[in-house]
Amino acid sequence: MPSKLCDYEILYLIGSGSYGKCLKVRRKSDSKILVWKDMDYGSMTEPEKQQLVSEVNLLRELKHKYIVRYHDRIIDRSKSRLYLIMEYCAGGDLASLITKCRKDRSFLDEETILKIFSQLLLALQACHGQRRRNGNQGKVLHRDLKPANVFLDENNDVKLGDFGLARVLHHDTSFAKTFVGTPYYMSPEQMNKVQYNDKSDIWSLGCLIYELCALVPPFTAPNQKLLAVKIKEGQFRRIPSKYSNDLQECIASMLNLTSTLRPSLEDIMGSLMLRKYVKEYS
Ligand code: ADP
Ligand code: MG
Repeated sequence: MPSKLCDYEILYLIGSGSYGKCLKVRRKSDSKILVWKDMDYGSMTEPEKQQLVSEVNLLRELKHKYIVRYHDRIIDRSKSRLYLIMEYCAGGDLASLITKCRKDRSFLDEETILKIFSQLLLALQACHGQRRRNGNQGKVLHRDLKPANVFLDENNDVKLGDFGLARVLHHDTSFAKTFVGTPYYMSPEQMNKVQYNDKSDIWSLGCLIYELCALVPPFTAPNQKLLAVKIKEGQFRRIPSKYSNDLQECIASMLNLTSTLRPSLEDIMGSLMLRKYVKEYS
């Protein structure tokens, strides 16, 4: 039986994001705490709606311990709204963690960073490994890897969220329109409007791990135009000296301006630094 909005009791608004509202809800049948994300598809064209449907179908199939579990979807045609019902992540997101560390002037331990890093690699591997059914669109890429989309659960394990939706929900992938905020993690090839590929996810992951260490993104600027210049130059400061050279070099390899020279997920997972973490958390 398809579920209905009235099967859920709204608890409160968690926040508003680039796609719509995110609410904490309780499923009436078993009191399970979940979140729902409501999205307006009213302004989408027919092909865009088709794509939204197929992306959401993909989300349903992504079942992995480090990926936010999608439970259900509800469509309210009269309001042109789509509701995605998902797992609730109690530990907050990495954006809040980074903000808190910056405020407290305390850096995360390298151990903690390597745990998050290895769990993110495993989540992305599960996602990249999944092929689209119709075959012609290839791998499932995340496309919107950023601290706000990485959650922690009650055990401080990673839960990666918001797969693939970036592509459907932002009508245009150009530099100016892709992000509502500042696109700190945009890869050089995305800026040049070259096709997004799995190495673009590696770039964003490199930016994310860098920011976990340094508490600021590798490339920063007061506006998008200057940010684009910084990204294309590809220069960034070393992560704080408390972190190992191995970690610094790994991040630097992921931030190679030439996408083909960046390591693959498997290359990173097989490195001496991460091997034992990946094994432990697999
Ligand atoms: P964004 O565009 O920032 O990713 P979202 O709609 O994904 O916006 O998120 C809005 C807010 O809801 C954020 O504060 C985010 O941390 C929170 N949030 C999103 N998904 C979940 C979830 N599954 N569990 C807990 N909090 C969530
Ligand atoms: Mg999000």
